Amino acid sequence: MSTSKEKIWKKIDKEHDEILKLAGDLIRFPSENPPGDMTEIADFVVEYLSDYGLDCETHEPESGVINILCKLGSGKEKRLVLNGHLDVVPVGDKDDWSFPPFSGEVKDGFLLGRGASDMKGGDTGIISAMRLLVDYEDELDGTVTLTLVPDEETMGELGTGWILDEKLVDPTACVIAEPTDLPLIDIGQKGAYWGKVVVKGTPIHGSLSPYKGDSAIRKACKVMEKMFDITKVNVEAPEDIKKVIEESKPLIEDLIGEEGVGIILSSPTLNIGIIRGGNKVNIVPDRCELEFDMRLPIGFDVSKASGHMEEILKDFGEDAVLDIGTAIDPNYTAPDAPIVTSTMENVEKVLGREPRIFTQWASSDARHFRNRGIDTVHYGPAIIEGIHGIDEKVKADDVVQATKVYTGVVLDYLS
Ligand SMILES: [Zn+2]
Repeated sequence: MSTSKEKIWKKIDKEHDEILKLAGDLIRFPSENPPGDMTEIADFVVEYLSDYGLDCETHEPESGVINILCKLGSGKEKRLVLNGHLDVVPVGDKDDWSFPPFSGEVKDGFLLGRGASDMKGGDTGIISAMRLLVDYEDELDGTVTLTLVPDEETMGELGTGWILDEKLVDPTACVIAEPTDLPLIDIGQKGAYWGKVVVKGTPIHGSLSPYKGDSAIRKACKVMEKMFDITKVNVEAPEDIKKVIEESKPLIEDLIGEEGVGIILSSPTLNIGIIRGGNKVNIVPDRCELEFDMRLPIGFDVSKASGHMEEILKDFGEDAVLDIGTAIDPNYTAPDAPIVTSTMENVEKVLGREPRIFTQWASSDARHFRNRGIDTVHYGPAIIEGIHGIDEKVKADDVVQATKVYTGVVLDYLS
């Protein structure tokens, strides 16, 4: 192990409390999205980093929607990004929580509050990594840029997607400190295909149904039944990721606590979340909308999903129209990519146990990087159960251990 890494890791152990104080401070800024105003937390982070001699750039594509960028090192060949989002999902009803949702307190070994896992624990790790690496800047062969974005929880279009579109960063690899739990490194995610089917019918007096008129609701039921056939498709994954996907299935069955649910990594899922139809009980309905959320496994991209929908809808002619809102291809980074190897090696050194790479069932900002060909891993402290729910927390020590991993990955990737 390099002496620099050894020194930094010793320092991290010594500064355990200081690292957790930063985590608590971040949690105490509510930063709920919606509404998504990051002004206060962004000011805090910029000032925190400047106390350690780090200059930040901020970019605000809309009022309060603030992106923070902070760079260390020089050289052009290797450009690593450490990415995190500062927004959190709303806490809901505070009374459902057994502690104040923006507590930030460490109690019985747990850091408490909204964002502890998703992802102010991870943010703490990458912010701390940057300030700890200041003294080692000369040793970096390349650059590391911290990017803290405002809107991952609402799709990242003015955050990660925007800073990449604007070419504010042009990384060769990326580590996102999203929650995975410490032995786990996420290298792939499913795609998303969200939209609605608008079904049309012919209205007439309800007393004549089903002999006269044409019910949009009855037709929508037929469309819905056919749509669910997509969940029976068994998708063949690309060769280089096949083994990881198979090995991820039991892992996510454990995480979700449902035997057999691992199949969602190789089959599309479908939820019809909203149905809107009809005007009055005694009128044959002339319109019915089905809003759906389909998730696409690796190997089954958006074009396949839309082909499937066209096939279903052609039987209904002009009476059923597809309207797509979100279309995201599934994405992954090859298991032998340098950033994956380097993360695995550091996780093993810090934890003293074997890390596991896996693919995930949801999606995140990782797609913005991977869809531009940038090798990307997710790695961060987490207790998965509380994420987006009540009583969110994380093991306090895990935040500190993750900080070690991030510094180690930067030193190794940029060596
Ligand atoms: Zn997140």
